[in-house]
Order: sequence, then structure tokens, then C-alpha cells
Amino acid sequence: MILALESSCDETAVALFDPSVGMAAEWVHSQIALHERHGGVVPDLATREHLRHFAPLVALAQREPGFAAVSEVAVTHGPGLAACLAVGGAAAKALALGLRVPLSGVNHLRAHAWSPFIAAHAEAPEKFAERLKVWLPHLGLIVSGGNTLLFTIDEQRVITVMAATRDDAAGEALDKGAKLLGLGYPGGPLVEKIGAGGRADAFDFPRGNGPRSELDFSFSGLKTSLRYRLEKMPAEEVATRLPDLCASYQQAVIDSLVRKTRVALERRGWRSLGLSGGVANNGVLRAALAVEAKRAGVEFFAAQPRHTGDNAAMIAFAAWADTTGVERTAGFDLRVEPNAPLS
Ligand code: AMP
Ligand code: MG
Repeated sequence: MILALESSCDETAVALFDPSVGMAAEWVHSQIALHERHGGVVPDLATREHLRHFAPLVALAQREPGFAAVSEVAVTHGPGLAACLAVGGAAAKALALGLRVPLSGVNHLRAHAWSPFIAAHAEAPEKFAERLKVWLPHLGLIVSGGNTLLFTIDEQRVITVMAATRDDAAGEALDKGAKLLGLGYPGGPLVEKIGAGGRADAFDFPRGNGPRSELDFSFSGLKTSLRYRLEKMPAEEVATRLPDLCASYQQAVIDSLVRKTRVALERRGWRSLGLSGGVANNGVLRAALAVEAKRAGVEFFAAQPRHTGDNAAMIAFAAWADTTGVERTAGFDLRVEPNAPLS
């Protein structure tokens, strides 16, 4: 049984995972309501909240029947906000030492990379290792507020970055666009909701794709283009055309993600495609990538909605599934790595 803790940004999360059965229990305390007022995550406030919320969440875990079987503690050791990571790291060290079990440091991005497989594992835990062989090599897309990454998992479970964003992350582009449109934070879900009532081809925003051979993403031009467009529009027009603006802006982000993923899919005989990170919540993106996977003849795995944002279930799962990138320690010597890369 793996007890996992996550506190890299603005979610305090705890999970219990039994690799031979599945996720036993999981809890997430989100701080969105707190940071909303500030239009973004305030690191000091986030740290204070993590300090407050780990003890009650761990107390819930202790009430689970499976807690007595905990044989490993896992914690996010990076990347993330340094002070936030330190809170989770300290809590995890205390738990590992108290329970006399080893402590694993899990890379948050690698946990996102593995998260689309959590559901497949839960379906048939005993068959997962065999089934995974059929799904590797895997091409994955992580889209979140801080990252936009195309990566691969090879047959030996080695993760390699294929492409990243040159400027803003996809979620950041949606959040900044939403801010320009006068919407709240985080903007991605609001843009999706309002955009559902609009036309995606109403406005022609740039795709920032660059040459076909180039897999890296770029979203800064898109944001600038929205700013210029809004400067030319009277406020009443912005208000009445808000659904069209949201739908078109969102479509520009999604088109870039889909197009680069399509090019990457054509490069090699991948056996599956994965989608994860907060932006993976977006229904239009999920549907578009499902179509691409089908066209390429590969299995499509999108992280379940509760595992797209930050959560401890994916940390527990990666502690077990990520056989090539977990830092295994005896407890005292876990390092916090705020700038750790995906690979
Ligand atoms: P994360 O960085 O993984 O915590 O994810 C947060 C990011 O996901 C933010 O940029 C949100 O705007 C974005 N996001 C969350 N839900 C959606 C959605 N339904 N559509 C698009 N973006 C979303
Ligand atoms: Mg994240």
C-alpha cells in the first residue's frame, strides 16, 4: 500500500493506492477559491494552506482500513513552488519515519505523464503490466497551467521529452486570454463554458504553428492577437460576442495542440496516445485528440477528470509505475527539486 502526498502548487492532496487492487482512497483540498481573489496562485498563502491541511487529510487516510498496510510513502519532490514542496516533503518524511517505511520522491510531471493509465490499471490490476506492453511506446501530451509537453514512454518505461512550449503554456494562454476578456481565474474552464455557446470559426486567431518539422508550441502571439482585437472592439460588442471570442480563442489553442500531436503521431509507430494536466479537462480537446488517435490507429487514454488537475493519486500511481525516474530514499535524505524537468 502506497501513501502519497502532493503539495507542489495550490492543491493539498493525499491518496492510498494498492497496486494489486487500485486506488483505495483519495482526497484533494483545492485552494482555488483563496487564490481566485488574487487572480493567480500566491506562494505564501499556498504554503500556509498546505501547512493547515495535511494533518486533517492524513487523519482521514489513517481511518481507512488499508492504512495499516502502508509499506511506502511517496511525495512530490518537484517541480513546483519550493516552500509548498517543502511542506509536503516534511510531512512525508515524518510519516515515513514514524511508520518505518521507505520514502519515494516522485516527479510531478512524470506523475502527470502516467496519470492517463490509472483507470486502465483499475480495470484489471493483475493484467496491467502485460497490457501496458501492448500500449508502449506511448506518445503523451501534458497540458497544464505551467507546462505544455509532448513526451514519449518507451518499452523500458523511459520517458523522453519530444517538444515543449517556447513561451506560454496552453493553460496559461487560456488564463491570460480569459483575463483580457474580463473573466475570472482560472480562465480555462470559463472560456470552455462560455465558448460552448459560440462559434469557433467566428474570429480568425493565429495558430503560431511554425514549420511542420517544428514540434515546439508557441502561444504568446495568440494572446497578443486577442489583445489587439479587443482594443478595436467597443465594450458592448465584446459583451455580445463573448461566446464567439471564447470559442474562437480556445479553438486556436486546441488547433495548435492537435496539429503538433498529429505530426508527432506520424513520426513513429506509437501504440497509444495520452492526454493529461489541467487543460485535459477540456471536452473539445479530449474529443479532438480522440479523433486523432483513431485516425492513427492507436489507443487513446485521457486522464480521468479527477486526475487532470493536481492530485495525489497520480503521485501514488507513478511511485509504482514509473520504474525509471523515482528517487527512492530511506526517509531523511529526500531532496526537494523545485525546477526538476520531466526527463
Ligand atoms: P494544472 O496546472 O494542471 O493545475 O491545471 C490548471 C490549468 O488548467 C489552468 O490553466 C486552467 O485554466 C486549465 N483548465 C482547467 N480546466 C480547463 C478546461 N475545462 N478547459 C481548458 N483549460 C482548463
Ligand atoms: Mg499540475
